[in-house]
Parts: sequence; C-alpha cells; structure tokens
Amino acid sequence: MMLITISRESQCCWVLCRIISPSLHVPSDTSAAIPVGLLACQRDPLLRSLKTTIVSAALLKPSPPPSLNKASHTKKAKASSVPTFPHPVLQDAVVWNVQVVKRHGGLAVHYVKPAEDVSDVPDVLASGKNVIVELGPAGFQRRLDHMSMHTSQHLLSSVIDSTLKTPTLTWSLTPWPSPAYIDLPRPLTAAEISSVQDHVNRHVFAGRRVHVQPASTGATATATIDIIRAEPQPSSRELGRGLPRDYSGGVHRLVIIDGVDRTPCCGTHLPSLSTLQLFLFPSPTSSSATSFRHLFLAGPRLLDHLASTHALLARTAGVLSCGAPETPDRVALVVDESKRREKRVEDLERELAGVLGRQLAEEMARWRAADGAGPGPRDDGWVRCLSRTDDSQTARAFLHAVTLAFEAHLLPEQTGEARRFTLLLASSPPSQTSSSTTVVMLLGSEEKRVKAASEELKRQFATLKGGGKATRWSGKFVGVWLAEREGKTAQSLLSRSS
Ligand SMILES: [Zn+2]
Repeated sequence: MMLITISRESQCCWVLCRIISPSLHVPSDTSAAIPVGLLACQRDPLLRSLKTTIVSAALLKPSPPPSLNKASHTKKAKASSVPTFPHPVLQDAVVWNVQVVKRHGGLAVHYVKPAEDVSDVPDVLASGKNVIVELGPAGFQRRLDHMSMHTSQHLLSSVIDSTLKTPTLTWSLTPWPSPAYIDLPRPLTAAEISSVQDHVNRHVFAGRRVHVQPASTGATATATIDIIRAEPQPSSRELGRGLPRDYSGGVHRLVIIDGVDRTPCCGTHLPSLSTLQLFLFPSPTSSSATSFRHLFLAGPRLLDHLASTHALLARTAGVLSCGAPETPDRVALVVDESKRREKRVEDLERELAGVLGRQLAEEMARWRAADGAGPGPRDDGWVRCLSRTDDSQTARAFLHAVTLAFEAHLLPEQTGEARRFTLLLASSPPSQTSSSTTVVMLLGSEEKRVKAASEELKRQFATLKGGGKATRWSGKFVGVWLAEREGKTAQSLLSRSS
C-alpha cells in the first residue's frame, strides 16, 4: 500500500467559492500539503477532477488501512473517513485506483495499491510529480448522496434544537440506501415531527445558501490560515462537539446555513439547501433508556426510497388486484382469512384423523371376526398399508394423529396380547417427481416387530430413511410413491415378515 500526500491544484489564482474569509489564503508552495479543512473537495465539493502535485509518498507494509464501509460521524470514525471514496489518480497515462483517503492529523493521505513486487515508491508517484485526481461517476454520486444527507442533518438538528430545545446526541450516515438517523434524548411526538419537517422544508424551499467559514477569522490581516494547535473549548452548538484529539494542523471550520445554523464540521456540504427536501420518519424505530432514534431521508436517497417503496407497494397491489390505497385493508383481510382457514384446516384434520383411525380399527376388528384369527401361535396379525395423497407441510403430524386415533379405537379384546398388527401409513404430495418426499409412519403391536418391519422396508426402498422409538417408527421416502406400486409392495413385504 502506498501513502501519497497530495498538495494543491497547480493554478495559483483560484477563488474560495464556498469558503468565506477575508484573511484566508491557500498556500502557493506546492511542496506543502494543503491542510484538512481546505482540501479542494472541501472548498468545492462539486469538483470532479483536480490537477495537483505529490508532496510525498511512502511504501506501507503490510497492513492495509481499514475499509470505508461505514461513514459514521463519531470522532473515531472521523479520523479515517474524511472525504473519501475510490477514485483514480492519473499519472503519465497510468491510472491508480485510490483505495481510501485517510486523515492523518491535519493531512489527507491517499492510499493506492502498487504491484505486489514493488520494493520502493514508483518514480511516477515521487514527490513533485504532477497527477490528476478524478472522481468517477459512482464516486461523485456517492459524494452527492453523502453531502445531501450530511447537510440535511445539520439543518434537521438545528431546527429541532432551536424550536424544541432538544439537542442531537449523535447521528449516523448509514450506508446507501438506508435512512440516516439522529438520536435525541426524548422521542418526538407525531405533531412535533410534522412541525419539524414543515420547518425544515420551509428553509429548503427558501433555497438557503450553505458556506464554510474558518473559525475566528479576520482578527489578523496577515493570517494565512487559522490552524488548530490546541484543544478546542466546546461550549455551545457553535463549538458543538469537540474536534478529534488528533486533529492538529487542520483548519477549524464552521459550516453555515445562512440564517439558520453554524456548526463546526469538516465534511463536504452542498452549496444550497434547494435540493434537500427532507422526510422525517413518523416515530422512533428503536430506543434505549437515554436516546431515541429518529430516521430521516433527503436528496437522492429520499428519491430512491420513494421509488423502491412505490415499487413494493405497486407489486403488492398487483398481487392483490386492488389499488394502492386499498392495499393495507386488503392485506389485513387476506391475513385474517388465512388465519381462519388455518384454524379450519386444523379442525378438519383432527376430525379426519379421528375418522381414519376409527375406520382402520374397525377394519381390523372385522378382519379378526371374519378370519377367526385369534390370539395364539396361528395369529399372523393384521397388516395394512394405507397410502394417502395430501399436499401438506405437516403430513407427519397428521399421520401421527391417525395412529393415536387408531389406538384409541382398538376394542378391549384387540389390546394386550390378544392383538397383533402392523399398520403402515404413507402421505405423498399430489404431483410427484424423483425428488418428492413421502412421509411414512409405522405402528405395530410389538416393538421388535416394528423394528424388524422398518429394517425390511429400508432394505426394499433404498431412499427410505428414518428412526423410531418403541412401537412407532417414521421416515421419509424420496421419489415417486404410488399406492398401487410402492404401497402394494410394502403391504406384501410386511405380510410376509409378520
Ligand atoms: Zn457535520
């Protein structure tokens, strides 16, 4: 990884278009780095390309800088997340992708990745070399989004602070496309949220200008730049949060929304509020004992949110064959109907399991009566395989209920030693393929008979797997199970082995 400190644009006469200071000058010495606070992107955040000079470069081994997945406005994150996203540095037609731009004290350092076998800084990146730093389309969109959310946060916090006397405890610029949030010491009421949003958007409609002012300027006519050398004294919203402890050598800036807000900040901001119509979410989504999170959206992220939520709503309305306004009521109706249907299916299944269990028990009783087979060595036992078709996610539970009902309906003389039976139940989906699953349940009068029968079945049906306990065994068969084929095979197999 290569560290490159980039100096300044080569044209010596530029305009401080968004930084307003009568005493501020940007040094013309190309061997000195421009301090953070006066970086080209901070003076003109809409800038996409910059011709500049390398002040110094060094080879860094081996640990890369942390990636910039999350641009949080905490002090810790700030030290490594000043204006920054991958963009190419061009030199002698060689393009280097900037991996990250990181603040070191008051300097912004660009990191690029040289070839693996490089042992020293390549000549094209040596001190004094000219380079062009460019922001690609994706990088610019990202900056535009970050500026929109950041400037909106200043405005939102300022309005909440001034109208409701409620300070912002912290905020986070969450990754696109999630809403960003501010944490407040109390939840805002619906009326307050509506009023704050109105208030904020009045400033937006007024198209208020945004500019940057170096702190404490104008006192000395000869001053070039006011560089922070001591710890700041945070005491009001204007001084606001303290600067990061390692912020030495950088410029102390106030970001000013004309007539609305002055906040110390190093970030990039839009020159005007005019595109920042803001949406504050209706109620806190989460809270702790001391802070209440309020989500908000503005600018490109608000439009993206609008488009994606509209698409979701339109899709849902399409599925329900109704207009968007009817969707919530229609969904409620569908959910309600579904719950009622579910309950009805449960009731019917219970009833059906009872009927099937009783029918099987009666069938066994008739068999005994007709066959005369009673207890004793001549009794081979009753064997029955019942294959059902059922499009059910809970087939196993249903078959279990059938076996319980069967046991419950056995006549007293069919219980104990007087009975011998092997009952196999199978439940298959209506349309089967080679990967379909048929649920199989085995119930017998004796544990060892059930165990032997399950082993026989597994030998016969290669894809049948399962396990059991006492007189019950259940498993799954993969493939096509037909009553006339697999069902009959199982029936004769169990009859032979019983
Ligand atoms: Zn800020």
